Amino acid sequence: MHALRTATAFPVAGLACLALAGAAAGGSEALAQGGAVYVQQPEIAKVSCLRGCAARKRVRQGSLLRITGKGFTAVDGVTFHGGSGAADDIEVKVRPGSARRLSAAVPFGAATGAISVTGGGGLESARSRVVAILPAPPPEPNAQLSPVPGPRQRGAPRLETQTDRTRAFFGARHAVTFSYRISGGTPKRVTVELVRARDGAVVRTWAPDVAKSRVQKVRWNGKAGKRPAARGRYLFRLTVAGADGEIARSATARDFGRDAFELYDHVFPVHGPHNFGSAGARFGSARAGHSHQGQDVFAPCGVRLAAARGGRVKFAAYHAAAGNYVVIDGAGTGTDYAYMHLQRPTALRAGDRVFTGQTIGAVGDSGNAQGCHLHYEMWSAPGWYDGGQPFDPYPSLRAWDGWS
Ligand SMILES: [Zn+2]
Repeated sequence: MHALRTATAFPVAGLACLALAGAAAGGSEALAQGGAVYVQQPEIAKVSCLRGCAARKRVRQGSLLRITGKGFTAVDGVTFHGGSGAADDIEVKVRPGSARRLSAAVPFGAATGAISVTGGGGLESARSRVVAILPAPPPEPNAQLSPVPGPRQRGAPRLETQTDRTRAFFGARHAVTFSYRISGGTPKRVTVELVRARDGAVVRTWAPDVAKSRVQKVRWNGKAGKRPAARGRYLFRLTVAGADGEIARSATARDFGRDAFELYDHVFPVHGPHNFGSAGARFGSARAGHSHQGQDVFAPCGVRLAAARGGRVKFAAYHAAAGNYVVIDGAGTGTDYAYMHLQRPTALRAGDRVFTGQTIGAVGDSGNAQGCHLHYEMWSAPGWYDGGQPFDPYPSLRAWDGWS
């Protein structure tokens, strides 16, 4: 078997007949250097947690896994299959290592499920047993400038970093701010990257001027290119190169805790105790002569109402049924957000810019309302009574209620 395994590693034509003999055992042929070469189908025996594990060696997002088995020589990918179907599969590239073991970091988006390895002409192993994957720990607060954990090459500058929050909302009044200070060494080049934890992609890069000993700041408005960035974890990573190319980094590529934050796309609009009422409060329930076009959220009169998503005010007025209401065109969403039965007329006027989370009024029972509640609607583009359609906002509200 040892000789066979060696043959799989190096596509040498002279070993082809030996290789073909082994093909019946579950391999395949691949053309390489003019001859048929056996490529062994990889096989996973065991998956264990190596570093960054949860308690009792359990696996979590960001952990480093050790996968043992055989036929790994040409393996260059690991797929985390997650729960259902292929939609949540995440493949990570790994460096081919030994024939019997490899290590792979668990990507941030990975969910509990089986794992398989791929390589050598697309041969995929059978799936492993289900690996329970716990969520990553929350981002580490780093609101004060503090020395970085590295890595840092000899002679490279020293770095301190700070990130002003661990939770951020798209369209909020304040951008996420990353601060840093460089000291020692001879800094020549500074790069700040905003990294998406889910897949390690760099969403934005800044190349600020080198400034030693002064605190520098970089701000991010939540956009990836021109579009709102997807919900999820992001982090700032600082790299400084010295005069002779010596490098200092704020954190390793696998560190998704430092200078990290969760980006959310909406806030829950009712800032106080609340409930979603009974079936009659739901979208689509019967009303006299029409169906209910939104979701009611019950809360005491006077509870603060916040804009679920910032944007521009389209309408702010009074209507006999809706009472005091306001409609906001959500920036970057194409969706209109309507809030009704406000306690008093909102201070906002049509055309005003609103930030995500900004106060728009208070829960009330103005207009035709049975008890204090927010009547909340969402309309598809092009908008509220302007060619769009109302859709059920309940799933969105439930999700936002979970984090804000
Ligand atoms: Zn209603």
